[in-house]
Parts: sequence; structure tokens; C-alpha cells
Amino acid sequence: MSDNCVFCKIINGSIPSEKVHETTNVLVFKDINPVAPVHLLLIPKKHIKSVNELQHSDGNIISELFEVASELGKSIPELQNNHRIIVSTGPDAGQVVEHMHFHLIGGRKLVWPPG
Ligand code: 5GP
Ligand code: ZN
Repeated sequence: MSDNCVFCKIINGSIPSEKVHETTNVLVFKDINPVAPVHLLLIPKKHIKSVNELQHSDGNIISELFEVASELGKSIPELQNNHRIIVSTGPDAGQVVEHMHFHLIGGRKLVWPPG
């Protein structure tokens, strides 16, 4: 938990969100500013600033994030044919919220390279 972190506030309920799924270590909610018909954020409940702060002991959290992404990718109809997981690290990569998160997007044709 980090006092100034918007995603920690979503986890503790002090900022509302449209929650989609929850497991022991992971929360999934709708992005407030979606860039695709389906745009979900998958976050660890533990405050991890970015991929660069990951520790070996976070392995269970990472596997849970991918497990949840895989389940949602199969169960949400708009994601079944194609979807993309994006994890930005650092401001020049577009990371604004300093609480590591997976964007899970789909429901439209996705172009490459992603900007
Ligand atoms: P980043 O740019 O850091 O990779 O992604 C942060 C994402 O969080 C953005 O897509 C932004 O729309 C989303 N976001 C920021 N604040 C909130 C919020 O208060 N609620 C929700 N649901 N999404 C947020
Ligand atoms: Zn946080």
C-alpha cells in the first residue's frame, strides 16, 4: 500500500472502480479511459512500482496475473479471437501510474507497432 497511489486507493475502495474480477493477489477493473472496446487493468494487490522493482519472490504474483489474463482472454467473447497485454515501464514508455499493471485490450483489430 502506497498512500499516494491511485491504484492502491482503488484496491482499498477509497476510489471507486468497475471491478471485473478478483483473486488472492490480483484485482481487475475497467480502465476509466478505454482505448479499445474491452480495456481492462490487471493489477497486483501488492504495491509494485514497475517491472523494474519486481523481485524473485513476486513470482507467484506474476504467474497469477498471467493466469487471470489467460482466463479473461478465453471467457470474454470480444477477446477470444485476439487480445493484447501491455505493460509499460517508465514515462517514455507511457507509464503514468506508478503501480505496475497489465493493460488487457481487445475487441478491435490491433495494429503493430503500438506507438
Ligand atoms: P499507464 O499509462 O500508467 O500505463 O496506464 C494507466 C491507466 O490507468 C490509464 O489507461 C488510465 O486511463 C487508467 N486510470 C488512471 N486513473 C484511473 C482511475 O482512477 N480509475 C480507472 N479505472 N482507471 C484509471
Ligand atoms: Zn499502488
